[in-house]
Amino acid sequence: MPQATPHERLHLESAMTVTGGCLCGAVRWESAEPPITTRACWCRDCQYLGAGSGTVGACFRTAGFKIAGETSCFSSIADSGNRMHRRFCPKCGTPLFSEAEVRPHLIFVRVGSFDDPNLARPAITIWTTSAPVWACIDSELPRLEKQPPPAA
Ligand SMILES: [Zn+2]
Ligand SMILES: [Zn+2]
Repeated sequence: MPQATPHERLHLESAMTVTGGCLCGAVRWESAEPPITTRACWCRDCQYLGAGSGTVGACFRTAGFKIAGETSCFSSIADSGNRMHRRFCPKCGTPLFSEAEVRPHLIFVRVGSFDDPNLARPAITIWTTSAPVWACIDSELPRLEKQPPPAA
């Protein structure tokens, strides 16, 4: 393959930028890299955030991640035992980010806030043990009854 010109390289790099924000637009975010992994989660906490469904969270490295706008934070101990900081838009309430205190290098982003949710197809469904009997769980994906090992 021929070498990419500087102009083409720039294009390739900008093509990997992933962007999103909340429903009202007061909070915007941007990642310089694609997600490390994406998980569908049915833990009990996620059912509150997902309004009855589970949530889909894409894991990014905080190093290349930028947030613009004010967020509110709710901190609690998750089913995993980790202290989690969950951030949302104070104006429209969109759940946006979730961070485990023990892993400050990672940030999970709610895929509903992606400008293009197609970029974040889940690789696994986790916490299936907490899902209600009527939950629609993708039979094509691997499942875990509880918490997976850290993404990175
Ligand atoms: Zn908002
Ligand atoms: Zn969850």
